[in-house]
Amino acid sequence: MRICIIGGGLTGLTAAYHLGNDHEVDVYEKRRSLGGCLSSYEIGDYHIEEFYHHCFAWDTRLISLMESLHISDRLEWLKGTTGYFAGGTVYPLNTPGEILKYPLLTFPDKMRLGLLTLQSRKMDVESLDHITARDFIVRRIGERAYNSFFEPLLVSKFGDSRNDISAAWLISRIGIRSNRGISGESLGYLKGGFHMLVDALSTHVGRQCIIRLHDPVTSITREHGKWNVHGKLYDTVISTIPPNLLAGSGLPESLSIPYQGAACMLLSLDQDVTSGTYWLNMRERAPYGAVISHTNFVPVERYGERLVYLASYFQGTVPVGLDHRMIDDFCQRFHVDSAAIRWHRMAVDPYAGPLYTVNFRKKILPYEKNGLYLAGMFSFPNYPERSMNGAVVAGEEVADLVSRGVSG
Ligand SMILES: Cc1cc2nc3c(=O)[nH]c(=O)nc-3n(C[C@H](O)[C@H](O)[C@H](O)COP(=O)(O)OP(=O)(O)OC[C@H]3O[C@@H](n4cnc5c(N)ncnc54)[C@H](O)[C@@H]3O)c2cc1C
Repeated sequence: MRICIIGGGLTGLTAAYHLGNDHEVDVYEKRRSLGGCLSSYEIGDYHIEEFYHHCFAWDTRLISLMESLHISDRLEWLKGTTGYFAGGTVYPLNTPGEILKYPLLTFPDKMRLGLLTLQSRKMDVESLDHITARDFIVRRIGERAYNSFFEPLLVSKFGDSRNDISAAWLISRIGIRSNRGISGESLGYLKGGFHMLVDALSTHVGRQCIIRLHDPVTSITREHGKWNVHGKLYDTVISTIPPNLLAGSGLPESLSIPYQGAACMLLSLDQDVTSGTYWLNMRERAPYGAVISHTNFVPVERYGERLVYLASYFQGTVPVGLDHRMIDDFCQRFHVDSAAIRWHRMAVDPYAGPLYTVNFRKKILPYEKNGLYLAGMFSFPNYPERSMNGAVVAGEEVADLVSRGVSG
């Protein structure tokens, strides 16, 4: 079978990995390199992700893929600490003692929050799809705890759409992030960066498929039972790009999923600004919702400099001047002299992930629609949050359906 895969991110590469042996596969990627959201910068002698990444022990399909690519020996489990930045102070929130000391929640609020956290892992998240996160939290632990603890998190991740986000998304996040030991969370990282995964996958795929870089697909048309993509005929097309981007490409039906963009500023510093914490959420409004000190997670010696992400999400187009506002605010809030920033890079992806608004579950697309195969962040394995593991599962499942010639 002749197969066209649109998108060289983790979903497209995984699908190509599974189909390339038995079929003639072409992968079209609009950028000059593969990896999509999992792309990395090459800085001197190391690679670092454009967008912060880590994985979890239960990302079993991602880990199996690493095993089959013979890179799982590079997977290491490191401590990822979290905290809140409020009123100019870093409050670590990892151990029960630290949580008890946190002054911005009352003792009863902490008890209710603790109970919800314990229960979250057993909740049926899909049944929470039609309730907003706000209503659910206010009902369970009260308005004060919502305003003080959850609203800043929702603002930082979803901005103006925070009141529309489903409880399914929030509870799944609480469940995932609360699955930790007494001293913090164990998170996975590939020694050498997730670039190792993209590189191993691309090398394998490159041996069996044609990879067409810098070749965005702009039209797909049906012709005598085949698909015409840029003048070449295919039996099957698998699109892994946001369905919204297929609009205008010649398809009879336009597909739409609400998406949001991400802007991630990566800074190189020679000082630690988050008091040893990896993931610091901003309680007060700032042009970024979290300060993620990569080198408080992965040993700084591997890089020879401290690496810090300023993470921000947006809807529509990236706000003008966001990069300058991020740096100015960061320097002021964290007392960093701008001259101490050795270099900075900004990555922007307007389609960084779906907006998990209420009733999102109904919008999830099947793997096949009108003869076109679709897999990506909008597929079931990425509900109620997209992930590398979800990308691998979606890529594998769509490849399986295609090779069996089944509609899914
Ligand atoms: C800020 C951020 C942080 C994240 N952190 C984590 C994390 O810590 N842990 C985790 O598990 N997951 C994380 N993720 C999610 C994870 O990176 C994604 O779920 C996964 O990489 C998605 O892969 P994909 O192939 O489905 O989509 P994408 O990576 O978006 O790939 C789609 C590809 O299609 C290409 N493309 C688009 N249009 C066209 C076209 N017309 N023609 C050809 N090619 C096209 C794009 O350039 C891209 O390469 C994060 C994502 C972001 C944005």
